[in-house]
Amino acid sequence: MGEKFNEVVDSLKAYVDGEKLSGEQEICFSPAKEKRTPSTREGLAPLRGKVSACEKCSLAGTRTNVVFGEGNPNAELMFIGEAPGADEDKQGKPFVGRAGKLLTKIIESIGLTREDVYIANILKCRPPGNRNPLPDEITACSPYLVKQIEEIKPRVICALGRCAAQRLLASEVTIGNLRGKFHDYLGVKLMPTYHPAYLLRNSSGKKDVWDDMKTIAKELGLKISRKGMG
Ligand code: URA
Ligand code: SF4
Repeated sequence: MGEKFNEVVDSLKAYVDGEKLSGEQEICFSPAKEKRTPSTREGLAPLRGKVSACEKCSLAGTRTNVVFGEGNPNAELMFIGEAPGADEDKQGKPFVGRAGKLLTKIIESIGLTREDVYIANILKCRPPGNRNPLPDEITACSPYLVKQIEEIKPRVICALGRCAAQRLLASEVTIGNLRGKFHDYLGVKLMPTYHPAYLLRNSSGKKDVWDDMKTIAKELGLKISRKGMG
């Protein structure tokens, strides 16, 4: 996938920037290797403004609020879900419904808070009736997520569920087979794990998610005092 994927990312980034890139222009997107100095620029605010007015796909016509994402703009750990649900659409915030409450517990299980991490989704607007995101919607919206990752420069990304994991890794392997180990996402360590909404229906997956969180905590040098996700 390597070169081809980078080409796609570059062209998507150019699309967001509203500029055309020449074939030779080199874009090095390797967040983990750059210095982790807090940005002296405006950070995520200009992008948030742009996304809040976005009409690049038809979800603009059915959303109540854009759900850009929230958390620490210098987070070492970033969670990426699929798309806003009804509660998120109403409040304009990611993961605030039932699955969101479970995500909060998952984050707290490794001694962090929601304010320590950054939480975002592949799609910034809710698909009607929570249907799966369509390929065109993902293509239209992904450049925003790429920009968020580039700005935040997390050390670790946790991809929640099949949609986020397969999209970020350009893979069709099942979530059950992707999870449990780190993959490389443009220089950032990416851990796929089960989506909290899946855990609400299949509590047997919690042990695997807890294992994945412990692997992430170890990578980040976090000490865990709790015995599980509670
Ligand atoms: N599910 C997601 O994937 N994202 C949210 O923000 C809420 C539920
Ligand atoms: Fe724009 Fe993404 Fe919302 Fe589509 S889902 S309108 S691309 S912000």
